[in-house]
Amino acid sequence: MKILLATNNAHKLTELKGILKGYEIYAFNEVLKPFEIEENGTSFKENALLKSKAVFEALNEAQRREFVVLSDDSGISVEALNNAPNIHSARFSPQKTDKANREKLISELKALNLSESKAFYTACIAISSAFGDYTTHGFMHGRVITQEKGENGFGYDALFIPKGFEKTLGELDEDVKARISHRFKALSLMGLILNLLKKELG
Ligand code: IMP
Repeated sequence: MKILLATNNAHKLTELKGILKGYEIYAFNEVLKPFEIEENGTSFKENALLKSKAVFEALNEAQRREFVVLSDDSGISVEALNNAPNIHSARFSPQKTDKANREKLISELKALNLSESKAFYTACIAISSAFGDYTTHGFMHGRVITQEKGENGFGYDALFIPKGFEKTLGELDEDVKARISHRFKALSLMGLILNLLKKELG
């Protein structure tokens, strides 16, 4: 069994590959020509399944017996912003870049006269395979601040301090994030399903 990752996000690829050690992993562009997938679902789960199903359907018959497709849909929810940006995390600002997204988050908190807010990350991992579709969720709770700190990670990591820590994910060692992240927790839950699929697909 080979795992095809349905993402072109370089940061997600690195994190997913790091967590999925022991499996034969392929990046999307190693197997298929790039194509657009419209993420028009109303939840992390719907969007994760849109991606994994679209990529699985693009595989030929032989590849469908060989690969399972794994996707990640994730984002941050900020309590003071009524849980925004949530599923819109990647496209929070008009520029849709990590930096502009962080700046928008900071300015929205400052507009409320806040210097921090409780927040949490969600990851939904979806798998599409010849034996059906599966999803799991993972969460990481903490708080966001209005000052960027550190260079590690991606997205909102320079603003996010996980519960039980005093530093942002931008400052903390990447090994720490790998052990506590929403992505790690969702993938850990998926481990059992991956092992069962491995028995079926060989
Ligand atoms: P997606 O590619 O549509 O799932 O969008 C994910 C977006 O959520 C990213 O572009 C980031 O803005 C944010 N995000 C998800 N997971 C993380 C993380 O682990 N660290 C920082 N930002 C994240």
